[in-house]
Amino acid sequence: MTAPICLVGIGKIAKDQHVPAIAGSADWDLAATVSRAGTVNGVPAYQDFAQMLVERPEIEVISLCLPPVPRFDYAKAAISAGRHVMLEKPPGATIAEVQELQRLAGEAGVCLFATWHSRMACGVAAAKDWLAGRNVLGAQIVWKEDVRRWHPGQEWVFEPGGMGVFDPGINALSILTEILPEAVFLRSAELEFPENRQTPIAAKLKFSGNVSADLDWRQEGPQTWQIKVQTADGDVILDAGGSLLSIGGEAIDVGENREYPALYDRMAELVQSGQSDVDLAPMIHVSDALTLGRRTIVEPFHF
Ligand code: NAP
Repeated sequence: MTAPICLVGIGKIAKDQHVPAIAGSADWDLAATVSRAGTVNGVPAYQDFAQMLVERPEIEVISLCLPPVPRFDYAKAAISAGRHVMLEKPPGATIAEVQELQRLAGEAGVCLFATWHSRMACGVAAAKDWLAGRNVLGAQIVWKEDVRRWHPGQEWVFEPGGMGVFDPGINALSILTEILPEAVFLRSAELEFPENRQTPIAAKLKFSGNVSADLDWRQEGPQTWQIKVQTADGDVILDAGGSLLSIGGEAIDVGENREYPALYDRMAELVQSGQSDVDLAPMIHVSDALTLGRRTIVEPFHF
């Protein structure tokens, strides 16, 4: 049997991923949307979140697909109204506000799921299993994509709280923090800020344990989302955002990539078991990079 769910913020990721994932799910039925402009065919659409919460008491789960800065107020209102909440990544604009949501969800007895879609990429669990208990010698992230292609015209990514290149870069960090058997911490960062923007367009990070990350939002043509991890027993390479895996030079069959369907499967498990799932490790690395980073001003960026 399906349970009713409401999607809030009908923009790029809601349409590209959330709507099809819910449509294909045996657990969920898209029963309402809340958005100022976006709608989904055949689904009751609200513009006012408070009105939806009052008029649709049967909807127990709210999935928030807004950008991070406006998300907190919606999450708090949903929790106060006794609803379970799913947060798109990154889970908030600041670490403190996500911790506050954890506290509020605990008090209200509802589930809070801070999703990391890249952790659900089909190669990630197998990479984690293979690395468990092994001695990692080093790791390199190369995450280079074209911001015009993935965030067309989305000015918020370059506004404070939009994270700039860390918006995709945090996906790589969510995989790194999932698969490494031991935690690493940031030692230094170099950040490139376009002279007309508030967030970085490129970043180079160095972590403890010979771990590095090279993030760039100016890559046209083929896109690169790769993580290599070295061990004495061979290298693990996750490519295509974690959906391709090779170990010791041999390609591993990791099945079909279903990141967003897997997030909705997980939300069903959490609601059933009455648990929350919030891991702030990727966001802490981004926050540390913005604290420690040496800044360089580069040429202006225009969409
Ligand atoms: P988006 O299309 O720019 O925004 C989503 C929707 O949120 C908008 O259509 C808008 O709907 C609503 N919204 C925007 N600003 C708002 C505000 N200040 N107050 C209230 N509502 C607001 O962004 P997106 O690309 O879908 O990204 C949303 C989240 O998903 C981000 O956290 C992003 O990191 C994550 N994500 C994005 C991608 C991607 O490829 N784009 C991939 C994975 C995850 P209305 O104007 O109709 O209200």
